[in-house]
Amino acid sequence: MDCETALIGAALGSAVGDSLGLPREGLSPSKARHLYGERIEHRFFFGRGVVSDDTEHTMLVLQSLALHGTQVDDFGRDLARRLRWWLVGLPPGIGFGTLRALTKSWLGFGPQSSGVRSAGNGPAMRSAVIGVFSAAKGIEPDALVEASTLITHRDQRALEGALAVAKCARLAVAAETVLPADGIAVLVDTCRHEAWAPMLELMAEMLSHSASTSDFACRVGLTNGVSGYIVHSVPVAVYAWLRHPEDAERAISEVISAGGDSDSTAAVTGALVGCRVGEDGLPLRWRSGIADWPVNVPSLRSAAQAALSGSRPPRTSLAHMLFRNLVTMPIVVAHAVGHWRFW
Ligand SMILES: [Mg+2]
Repeated sequence: MDCETALIGAALGSAVGDSLGLPREGLSPSKARHLYGERIEHRFFFGRGVVSDDTEHTMLVLQSLALHGTQVDDFGRDLARRLRWWLVGLPPGIGFGTLRALTKSWLGFGPQSSGVRSAGNGPAMRSAVIGVFSAAKGIEPDALVEASTLITHRDQRALEGALAVAKCARLAVAAETVLPADGIAVLVDTCRHEAWAPMLELMAEMLSHSASTSDFACRVGLTNGVSGYIVHSVPVAVYAWLRHPEDAERAISEVISAGGDSDSTAAVTGALVGCRVGEDGLPLRWRSGIADWPVNVPSLRSAAQAALSGSRPPRTSLAHMLFRNLVTMPIVVAHAVGHWRFW
C-alpha cells in the first residue's frame, strides 16, 4: 500500500464512517435500530449523508500538514487558527471540551495552552491522518499528535488516545497482516494511564473469542451506547477495526451498531480500515452517498495529496462553512426533534 493511497483512504474512511454514524449519534443501540433499522446506510437526508466535526477536523489537519507538516510549532499554530475560524462557522454538534478550548484560543491562549482538562475523544478523531503522514515522511507521530491535541485537550488520557489512533494507523500502513495482538500491543504501549487497563484487558480476551463489537461494548458497561469519553470510544473503535481490518462495511457497521457517539467511533474505525484498503476498498455506494460541501470526497482527496506533496491544499473558507452550516441547520434540527419525540 503506497502512502498516498493510504492517506486518501484514511481521510475518506473517516468521512464514510462519520456520515453513516451521524444520524444515530447519541442513541442507544436499540433506539437507533428502532428509528433507522438494522442495516447501516446513509439516512440523513433522502438517503444521503453529510459529515460532521470528525471529518472537518481531519480536513483541517490535512490542510495544516500540507503547509507546515515538517515544522511542528508552525503546524500547531496553523491548526489552532483553522480551528478558531471553524468555530466561527457555527458547527453543529461541537463537543463541549472543544468549544471551551477554542473559546480560550480566541481569548489569546496559545496552541499549547488553550486545551482544557477533558478526556473527550475530539483529538482521536483527527489523528489517524497524522499517523499515515508521519509514516510517509519517516518521522514519529508523537510531536504532531501532541501539537494537534493540546489545542483542545490536555488531559493525559486524551493525548494517549489520540496517539494510539495515530500509531494504529501506522500499523495499518506498515503491517503485512494486521493481527489483533499487534493492535492491542500498540494500545498497551501507548495508553499508560490506569483508566485504560480494564478496557484493554477485556479487549484482548474478547477478540480472542471473536466476540462482536457490540458484545465488547456491553461487557465494559456501555449497554446504552459508547460514550464520548476517549477511554471508551478509542478501544471500541479499534476493536471493530481489529475484527475486520480490511472490511470497511463490516467494521463500520459493527461499530455503529454499538450505538452512542457513533459518528466519532465510526470515523476512527473507518479511517483505520481506509489506511489499509484505500479509496477503492470503501464501498462505492457509501462514498457516493456523501452529499456535502465544501468538505467532501473530492476535497478530502485533494487535501490528502497536497499534504504529501507539500502543495497548496483546497480551501474551506469561513464563508463556505457558514453557508453550509446554515443550510443544513434545519435538517439537523429536524433530526434532533425526531430523536426527542422518540424519547
Ligand atoms: Mg461528529
